Amino acid sequence: MSPKKSTGKSAPEKSEAPKKAAKTSAKAPKKMAKTPDLLRGFRDILPEEQVVWDAIRDQTRAMAKAYSFERIDVPVLEKAEVFERTVGAHTDIVEKEMYTFVDASGDRVSLRPEATASIARAYIGHGMLNRPQPVKLWYMGPMFRHDRPQAGRFRQFHQLGFETIGVDDPITDAQLIVIAHRLLRDLGIEASVQINSIGNNEARQAYITELSAYFKRHRAKLGEDDKRRLTKNPLRLLDSKDPAVKELLAEAPQIVDWLDDASRQHFTKVLEILDEVEVPYILNPFLVRGLDYYNRTVFEFWPQGDEGEKSQNALGGGGRYDHLIELMGGREATPAVGFALGVERIAKLIKEKTPEKEPIQVFFAQLGDAARRVGLRLFEEFRAANIPVAEAFGKSALKAQLDLANKMQVKCTLILGQKEVLDGTIILRDMESGSQEIVDMKKVVAIIRRKLTA
Ligand code: AMP
Repeated sequence: MSPKKSTGKSAPEKSEAPKKAAKTSAKAPKKMAKTPDLLRGFRDILPEEQVVWDAIRDQTRAMAKAYSFERIDVPVLEKAEVFERTVGAHTDIVEKEMYTFVDASGDRVSLRPEATASIARAYIGHGMLNRPQPVKLWYMGPMFRHDRPQAGRFRQFHQLGFETIGVDDPITDAQLIVIAHRLLRDLGIEASVQINSIGNNEARQAYITELSAYFKRHRAKLGEDDKRRLTKNPLRLLDSKDPAVKELLAEAPQIVDWLDDASRQHFTKVLEILDEVEVPYILNPFLVRGLDYYNRTVFEFWPQGDEGEKSQNALGGGGRYDHLIELMGGREATPAVGFALGVERIAKLIKEKTPEKEPIQVFFAQLGDAARRVGLRLFEEFRAANIPVAEAFGKSALKAQLDLANKMQVKCTLILGQKEVLDGTIILRDMESGSQEIVDMKKVVAIIRRKLTA
């Protein structure tokens, strides 16, 4: 008995029942599970984006090889202290952006917001001090910051980075700047190098005192955020987006005037080397980078033409971190320098310039089970010969397969039916002219190769 009939006795029920039925039939017939949304600030990197990502990966690997950097992969999850001790308690990253939680074993852990601190931990933990110095490492992988999602800012993003650990010669600073600049150029991006020196710790402390005194005199002009920065980490005022603060900066003390002699000489040498290798740079007296572990040279790469907007657009940056290894518990002072570039930002810039993925030139069409089985084997032969072949094993009608081959604009289609399987042959159809020939299955790979290179 249908529910309609069983409820059709009293007037109110009568009028309600059809309504209910109409409601359910208008909607999906079955209750559908709701697809979970992506977390805010997280994204998928889709197949069509991978050409660009592959180009970035390939160029980075080539650059690492040319300059003999070795790959390192560090975990995405570490003890929270790895970052808290080094990045700095009053930095944006540690203050509000780290994904930190207590795991099921009771450990306080963080998803890495950057990789340099972990690399320093690995350097110490694996006794890399005993390897020939410098130890030159590179990485590429996801980082996590609970940042405010906005254009170009994600909560999971990727960085590629290079680190040279164990030497303090200014040439290493310059070399890393050259590597990043060339890497970006190889990817078709002209970046402007912004550079500054933040000196040693004492010089920086003296400068911070001076900077604080200056801004305290102008405290009334500061917004709430900047007032907080003034008490907690005055250097961050240099990054302020507030026009009033930007105006104040024009008259503010500059760190170059507070540099210790050794840092000044170091900086001069870095600039001389950059001049020599003709990498253009812009001296930026207000560039300090956010993190506590930097000293001496700091630099950033901005897309050319975007220099006015420090905003959200830096492609990456880096600097010297001569005390990080000690801060992490290393036995000896170990000077180091490195940079990290944001892969999403690079990918966005090169998307338009990268050539389309190389189109597939060969399609394999089959008729019947035996042909499908032989086809799988044939595929392996084409793979070994490095010739990509498209197929539609899921379709059985030849017309549907040929339609697909046409759509893909392949050069030739191989057609294998029952008869050809028995004969050890295969039909080769030239898609442009429409002409067909029967060829020996054993020779088909060689024939196709000749056709494609002709
Ligand atoms: P940082 O060390 O914080 O200056 O980061 C280096 C580079 O990583 C930046 O210049 C960006 O290209 C990239 N980056 C940092 N944070 C994010 C984010 N939330 N989303 C996307 N890219 C980021």
